Amino acid sequence: NAKTDNYLLYKQDIKPMYRFREKFSHKGEFGHAVIIGGSYGKMGAVSLSTKAAISIGSGLVTAHIPQCGYQIIQTSVPEIMVEVDAENEMQKFDKTVNATVIGIGVGMGTHIETVKGFTEFLNKNKVPLVLDADALNIISKNKELLKLVPENSVLTPHPKEFERLVGKWKNDYDKLKKLRSLSKKHKLIIVLKGAYTAIAHEGAIFFNSTGNPALSTAGSGDVLTGIITGLIAQNYHPFEAAKMGVYLHGKTSELAMKTKVYETFIASDIIDYLSSAIMDLL
Ligand code: AMP
Ligand code: MG
Repeated sequence: NAKTDNYLLYKQDIKPMYRFREKFSHKGEFGHAVIIGGSYGKMGAVSLSTKAAISIGSGLVTAHIPQCGYQIIQTSVPEIMVEVDAENEMQKFDKTVNATVIGIGVGMGTHIETVKGFTEFLNKNKVPLVLDADALNIISKNKELLKLVPENSVLTPHPKEFERLVGKWKNDYDKLKKLRSLSKKHKLIIVLKGAYTAIAHEGAIFFNSTGNPALSTAGSGDVLTGIITGLIAQNYHPFEAAKMGVYLHGKTSELAMKTKVYETFIASDIIDYLSSAIMDLL
C-alpha cells in the first residue's frame, strides 16, 4: 500500500549494508567520484564535498571547478585531483573522464553560462548523478531537465530547494505525497533533508533516525553530497548509498556531542567523526 509504505531507518538496517575491505583490496576497486561545482566565494562547498567523498572511501576523487578555485582546492584537499574549467564561472562540464558517479551543484551558482553548460552536460552524461544545491535550483527553473537525469540518480534537496522543485505543499501529508510521486515519476532517489530526513525510492519512504540540530550549520549538506557520491563510487547501490550516507552523517553529530555542543559543531566536524560513526555500526 503506497500510502503506508513508510519506514524508520535504524542501525540494524544500515549495518548489513556496510562492506569490509579485503586484505588484497586496492584503490582501483573503489571507484572515482567526481564533484562538479564551486564559484568565486563558494569554493569551500567543493572542498568539503570532495573531502567527504575521499574520507568515506572513494578510490579516487576529482573536483571539477572554475579556474578561481584551483589553488584553494589543491591546498585544502591534497588527496584529490582537480580539473579546471576554462572560465571563472562553471561553464564547460565536459572534461570529466572515467567518473563512476558525479556529484554536482555544490556552490556552483546559477550564472547563465553555467545553466547552459549544465544543460549540455545532462544531454551527454551517462553516469549516475547526485544532484544538490544549484543543480536542483537550475532544474527547478526548467523541469524538463529532469527527463535527462539518469534513473536511480540521487537528489538531495533541503525543504526550500524541494519547494522550488514541486511547489508549496498544503501540509506534511501533501509534502510526502509530492516526494513520493516525484521520485516514482522519474525513477529517482530523493533525499528530502531536515530533522528525520525522508528518503524516497520506488514508492517507499524511509525516515532517518539519527542527527540533531548540530547539523544545521553551513556546509552540512555539501558534506552529505560528498558522502553519498563517495559511497556510490564504491559501488553501493544509490539507494543504499543514500540511506547509509544520511544515517552516518546524522550519527556523527550524535557522537560529537560527548565533547562538543550544537553551536561549535561545524561541517568539517562531520568528516572528522565519520570513522566513529562507522565504528559505531560494527
Ligand atoms: P543543507 O541545508 O543543504 O546544508 O543540509 C543540511 C543538512 O543538515 C541536511 O543533511 C539535514 O538533514 C541536516 N539537518 C539540518 N537541521 C537538522 C536538524 N535539526 N536535525 C537533524 N538534521 C538536521
Ligand atoms: Mg545545501
